[in-house]
Amino acid sequence: MNFELFTSDEHTHRSFLFKDTQTSIMEEQSKMDFKCRCGSNKNYLDCCGAYINNNRLPNTPEQLMRSRYTAYATYNIEYIANTMLGKALNGFDLKGALIWAKTIIWEKLEIINTSLENNNLGFVEFKAHYTEQNQHGILHEKSTFHRIKGKWFYVDGVIL
Ligand SMILES: [Zn+2]
Repeated sequence: MNFELFTSDEHTHRSFLFKDTQTSIMEEQSKMDFKCRCGSNKNYLDCCGAYINNNRLPNTPEQLMRSRYTAYATYNIEYIANTMLGKALNGFDLKGALIWAKTIIWEKLEIINTSLENNNLGFVEFKAHYTEQNQHGILHEKSTFHRIKGKWFYVDGVIL
């Protein structure tokens, strides 16, 4: 990639992302033998890692929800961006999301409830436990997922 082709803003942005992609890959590789961060008790590569590495598509909203949580926890923000559409994507900023993700330690995911309205519309209510600046917090949300051409996307969420 020739960075000279981009304006200075784009240059900074792309260099930044490139560096972090490398970091993520290294972090991911060092986590291969570890249990998945979503709390499934499976190995990372047999769980969310398969979706994050694009080896498999999530079959259910819950699988996508879990993999997005794990992606946040491991700073795979590109996966986050690639699995959201519509309202959820409005105003989403890859660089800002990455900076934000790195200020938070995601500790635990609790799936409270999942439901399917039909084959292409589903909901997941969850509690994501985190620590930010030494303060424990819980993100309690009901997320909406749409399946478009066979692929699930996060499209909206309501904080509960
Ligand atoms: Zn997982």
